[in-house]
Amino acid sequence: MSKPDSAKGSSKTPAAKKLKLETSDDEPSSSRTPSVDSGFLASVELKRKQCAGNILEFKFNKKRCRLLSKSMDLGNFGGGVLYWMSREQRVQGLEEVEAECQKLQIEFHLLKGDSQICVPNLIKKLKLDAVVADFSPLRVPLSWIEKVKESIPEDVPFCQVDAHNIVPVWVASDKQEIGARTIRKKIHDKLDEFLTDFPAVVTHPHPSQTKAKPVDWKAANAYLEVDRTVEEVDWITPGTKSGLLELSNFCQKRLRLFGEKRNDPNVAALSNLSPWLHFGQLSAQRCILEVKEYKAKYAKSVDVYIEETLIRRELSDNFCFYNPNYDNLKGAANWAQETLDVHKKDKRPALLTSQQLEEGKTHDDLWNASQIQLTRTGKMHGFLRMYWAKKILEWTATPEEALRLAIYLNDRYSLDGRDPSGYVGCMWSICGIHDMGWKQRDVFGKIRYMNYKGCQRKFDVVAFVQRFGARTYPIKGVKYE
Ligand SMILES: Cc1cc2nc3c(=O)[nH]c(=O)nc-3n(C[C@H](O)[C@H](O)[C@H](O)COP(=O)(O)OP(=O)(O)OC[C@H]3O[C@@H](n4cnc5c(N)ncnc54)[C@H](O)[C@@H]3O)c2cc1C
Repeated sequence: MSKPDSAKGSSKTPAAKKLKLETSDDEPSSSRTPSVDSGFLASVELKRKQCAGNILEFKFNKKRCRLLSKSMDLGNFGGGVLYWMSREQRVQGLEEVEAECQKLQIEFHLLKGDSQICVPNLIKKLKLDAVVADFSPLRVPLSWIEKVKESIPEDVPFCQVDAHNIVPVWVASDKQEIGARTIRKKIHDKLDEFLTDFPAVVTHPHPSQTKAKPVDWKAANAYLEVDRTVEEVDWITPGTKSGLLELSNFCQKRLRLFGEKRNDPNVAALSNLSPWLHFGQLSAQRCILEVKEYKAKYAKSVDVYIEETLIRRELSDNFCFYNPNYDNLKGAANWAQETLDVHKKDKRPALLTSQQLEEGKTHDDLWNASQIQLTRTGKMHGFLRMYWAKKILEWTATPEEALRLAIYLNDRYSLDGRDPSGYVGCMWSICGIHDMGWKQRDVFGKIRYMNYKGCQRKFDVVAFVQRFGARTYPIKGVKYE
């Protein structure tokens, strides 16, 4: 297990101060001690049992895997299979995994250190016969996979499962897609095959001969090299159980509003599930299976939710998988690179420092409120994320600097940061990926523009600003919108 790291960051930042999370209708509704909706958890278990009583009865779709080693020959097949769980799991989420594994007679090993050394060592020590790894299209986890592949014996089969997407990224499309309109049908056409329920996970019939040491979670936590100056948020409990409970909450309380009100940051309409999705503690497949059950009641909301969670999210993985420049300007379309270049020297309405931005001290109270929401809760409302990133383009010297800062702040403070959807969100906002050219204007060129007045037309800006106690920090010579 590679070191999980925090998305959060350094001192003298707004989040570094102990800030009380005010409760509001729109605030994520989970808490440190979520109310136990055992009915929902039991219904999920039952659906799994109905799908297949155990993995042997389940018709696993092998297209979800790709073979990374030359051989798939399992040899004598008696030594066991290692599931190398690397997908950004947080320590707290892993405690739950360890407890569940113990119940199922599956040995759970927490490996600290470089995966290139730890994984091959464990394979050798336990004489394991095969390795199954998680999938992520991002550079760092892909490099772990490559390094481990080089370091394990050639005759140990090594494969990767795309459990991040419903339709595996390599099945959905064999190229970088232009946008939602070009990938939508490709994904929907494959749903009968891939949008299936999961089999039950039952006690392992062949317990391992070697027992794993129980993990010292305190020591594991202390070992983490994370910046602890940004404090933990208190509205969210990591782990699958808590994620499922939030999903149940969303279906019962907020889904009905999702179709109409998801762009209003003053209304509790969003799912708030992205942190659990990001850490692999909840699967988008489970979310969609549950949400679909409300189709007769809330048709529009269900359709929109599926569009976001399936198409937009899987489009992000498609982009990062096929475009190695997924987080820099070279990854943008030619028209976007050209237009940003033409407007690179345009006078900016204001030039702000990274400190002013990070501290939420700009001349725009809505932007400041959004930044406070991000640093205080670890999650900015989805609509405001677009406005927020576009303003960074408007207030920094170059598009390169804007993109770098947007990614830095997003990855540092967002619980769901360092995610394909984050890079794509920043790239969409600042360099027009998956978008088209709009009316030419200063700084933005043909990149889609958003402004304060547009937000005022959509929602009550004053109410949002007041909720986070934000204000303007006038800048000499800069006219406030
Ligand atoms: C500048 C910017 C930065 C972003 N950074 C991140 C990030 O770091 N991590 C992240 O997961 N998402 C990111 N997004 C995408 C989107 O804003 C979030 O997925 C969403 O706000 C998560 O909140 P939610 O779960 O309540 O979403 P909901 O509004 O409830 O949507 C349901 C689900 O659909 C998916 N989704 C929604 N919008 C998008 C989108 N635009 N692109 C891809 N998937 C989407 C998510 O999986 C989300 O959980 C970013 C968008 C922008 C514009």
